[in-house]
Amino acid sequence: MSSNHKHSEPANPYLEKRRNGEETSELEKRVSDIEALLISKGIVSKESLDRMIEIYEKDLGPMNGARVVAKAWTDDEYKSRLLQDGTSAIAELGFSGLQGEHMVVIENTQEVHNVVVCTLCSCYPWPVLGLPPSWYKDAPYRSRIVLEPREVLEEFGTFLPEHQEIRVWDSSAEIRYMVLPRQPEQSKGASEDKLVGLVTRDSMIGVGLPKPS
Ligand code: FE
Repeated sequence: MSSNHKHSEPANPYLEKRRNGEETSELEKRVSDIEALLISKGIVSKESLDRMIEIYEKDLGPMNGARVVAKAWTDDEYKSRLLQDGTSAIAELGFSGLQGEHMVVIENTQEVHNVVVCTLCSCYPWPVLGLPPSWYKDAPYRSRIVLEPREVLEEFGTFLPEHQEIRVWDSSAEIRYMVLPRQPEQSKGASEDKLVGLVTRDSMIGVGLPKPS
């Protein structure tokens, strides 16, 4: 695991805890009050806020990462560039921006299975995977995946051969990891578009495997 885990901001336990319904509506009210204030003062426009929300709903998400993986599976030169300089190779496909600046892609092999965590908070590659799932931000995943990765993977339904080593990578503000899963044998020779459909979000975090076909 990388040892110098630095963050642009310290982990905030309040932000990470689960909220009850009352707390959620309080938070929603606060957000809409701030939004109204920013708009009334002319600091942001309603249109730009709507566009930002649209980006998070439609443009960012694991479908982007799946495109990257499918391309790497079908194009060896692209795969080499991806493993050498993740940020640039991912940007070639048009995916870049906030939380995607320092991407490192790690390849699963027969011998090694990789899995990603952020032990301190929830660093995650937004441009390729979207926003992190709630379990990724939860303390049990963040601590247990380091201590007992095989057990945690099994709880996700991912059973790996005993001989396969599991490596855990700690994402941070400096480096955000993404896993390049192994291409399922049955899918060799399939089109890139078909392959995109096999790549799951969890397979790019490393807690899952791609769909077999
Ligand atoms: Fe982090």
